[in-house]
Amino acid sequence: MTDPLPSGKTDTPLASGKTIGILGGGQLGRMLSVAASRLGYKTHIYEPGAAPAADVAAEVTQAGYDDLDALRRFADAVDLISFEFENIPADALDVLSAAKPLYPSRAALETSQDRLTEKTFLADLGLATAPFAPVDSAADLDAALARIGTPAILKTRRFGYDGKGQARIMTPEDTGRALASLNGAPAILEGFVDFSMEISVIAARGRDGAIACYDPGQNVHKDGILATTTVPATIPASLRTDAVLLAARILTALDYVGVMGVELFVTPSGLIVNEIAPRVHNSGHWTQAGCAVDQFEQHIRAIAGWPLGDGTRHANVVMENLIGEDVARAAQAAATPGTQVHLYGKSETRAGRKMGHLNRVTGPAT
Ligand code: AMP
Repeated sequence: MTDPLPSGKTDTPLASGKTIGILGGGQLGRMLSVAASRLGYKTHIYEPGAAPAADVAAEVTQAGYDDLDALRRFADAVDLISFEFENIPADALDVLSAAKPLYPSRAALETSQDRLTEKTFLADLGLATAPFAPVDSAADLDAALARIGTPAILKTRRFGYDGKGQARIMTPEDTGRALASLNGAPAILEGFVDFSMEISVIAARGRDGAIACYDPGQNVHKDGILATTTVPATIPASLRTDAVLLAARILTALDYVGVMGVELFVTPSGLIVNEIAPRVHNSGHWTQAGCAVDQFEQHIRAIAGWPLGDGTRHANVVMENLIGEDVARAAQAAATPGTQVHLYGKSETRAGRKMGHLNRVTGPAT
């Protein structure tokens, strides 16, 4: 069930005291919960495992995404449903979307759950992507390599994150190893993009069709995990405009409601879309220090029918993820002027685990 408004109609925001259900209880759910509470809402987190978001939510359901009874009870107990985790199975979506409004919509989520559907959607929209082909067998891979060439990247169609479920193919000799590493999962082959920089646009669309985008951030990854996002990105103004317009086209085409992260490669021939994430995004954390309305409040505003924040940036910011033992630097960083410290309340520090992040204001917006 959804309650889309005809474009341009004014919405009445979800009433104060109502409950927003959020699937996924990680740090994104935690920061969404805090933002929801500032707008007068309660949150109910649904999470199969340990939930950093549980500390700041009114209710928590700990159950699997295949537990349809628990999902039904959760849907009955909330007024609106959203998510911070994309890999929600189709059966769960059936139960949830039949019971309560789900934002972003099931169709938007399903488009981005599968890399083949996602890339096909983007290409059909006329946007540039890496060349791609589906790979379900060794014969498919040979045919795809004959067309796309090397270097290339073989990626699982579903469930990939932080560079997991990917194998690089530098020469045709790598194919056997690459295919074996994916354990028979349906995959796509992507041509390797020779990019000079990775950027992302965090964009939002309201239930009335209004769109607001934040300035593109410049992303640096380490070991496949986002390390830093810097605004402004060191790209010409014309590319910033291209990035924002392209993100807006994606949101409109999906009739999207909520915040989305759009990851882009910068190349000499322009922008290439890498992937879209139908949720608040790690590369949008800088908005907490750089904008009056950050991406978390923006998402709650969008799904609950509030006017969107305009996305204007008032500061230059560097966001740095605290990964694993990096978290030991948090107190020292807090002593640095202009630095926000965000910790996710995870008791166990593990290598590669996102423990928190820093937002360092480096000056007024330029
Ligand atoms: P993804 O999971 O698709 O976001 O990929 C993780 C990272 O791998 C990206 O942030 C890029 O640094 C790199 N990558 C992914 N796809 C490509 C590609 N087609 N060409 C070059 N680098 C890529």
